[in-house]
Amino acid sequence: MGEFDLIKRFFTRPTPRAVLGVGDDCALLQARAGMQLAISSDMLVSERHFFADVDPRTLGHKALAVNLSDLAACGATPLAFTLALALPQADPAWLEPFSQGLLALADQHGCELVGGDTTRGPLNICITVFGEVPAGQALLRHSAQVGDDIYVSGQLGQASWALQLLLLQRQGRLPSAAETQLAQIRARLESPSPRIALGLALRGVASAAADISDGLLGDLGHILERSGVGASVDADAVLALLPGAQTLPAADALRHVLAGGDDYELVFTAPAHRQAHVLQAAKQAATPVQRIGRIEALSGLRLHNRQGQLLQPTLHSFDHFAPAPQEAKP
Ligand code: ADP
Ligand code: MG
Repeated sequence: MGEFDLIKRFFTRPTPRAVLGVGDDCALLQARAGMQLAISSDMLVSERHFFADVDPRTLGHKALAVNLSDLAACGATPLAFTLALALPQADPAWLEPFSQGLLALADQHGCELVGGDTTRGPLNICITVFGEVPAGQALLRHSAQVGDDIYVSGQLGQASWALQLLLLQRQGRLPSAAETQLAQIRARLESPSPRIALGLALRGVASAAADISDGLLGDLGHILERSGVGASVDADAVLALLPGAQTLPAADALRHVLAGGDDYELVFTAPAHRQAHVLQAAKQAATPVQRIGRIEALSGLRLHNRQGQLLQPTLHSFDHFAPAPQEAKP
């Protein structure tokens, strides 16, 4: 199968919303009056972000999900995306489920595949998403205010826990008792659900937001740094976001929830007087949210337990270029 047959067969679809989709030198989108475009790219590299033998259907889903998660964090409505793909070979048995997983999630969010690039090379998937948001209403990282409450959506830590178990399984060291646990949480690693509905519902409610892709500490840390504030975070509230945390050594549970990564939940702030609006937004989006702390003037992040004792997290969020050797983050 040649390059253009491949594009035609797996990646060319009707684009009722875009003015022009796949097939020309550029795709064309009609910008709507009063709207701003929200644009984000994420690249997934084989054996860095995923195992080369991962189910291609879930890989297609995840490649788009991590990009949609960025639109969710900004409160943007998905419009379209491009797909730049490097493939070792044109294998229909792989491309078919990959494109199905990708396009099923795209359809779910009305996000049209409008173009891309295809080349031979080590497996690598780079998606750019385009969304829209009413001018001036995007949720951003720089605008958290002292006194705001800090919230997290959904659950945290299961993706990181699943990765730990998968690595053990691949080394033949997964205890059989842990197999059920892995089966229960594996989807959190391999097919995350971008929180688009919550992001939209939080427009005009949240003061700042980010998605949690590299761990809560790091991604909340970006909000704090860009907003020039600090935070106090309740470790027990955060641990409650990981079902089954009590079956893990405490240090492992904390590491998964604070620094695990791959959660694709939202962390956001809102003034205390908007709490009812936050809960209403959560209800509207059918997405649970949990308050985990408060923004403070003193810079840095302080983690304390219910007894008020300060814990000293020595954890770091994932950094591909951190000086110390780290495990790959599939
Ligand atoms: P150009 O050489 O002008 O960059 P290409 O020949 O690479 O264009 O691609 C032909 C058409 O197919 C373009 O419209 C491009 O956007 C689209 N395309 C290429 N690869 C993909 C892909 N993986 N998914 C979707 N569209 C693709
Ligand atoms: Mg061209």
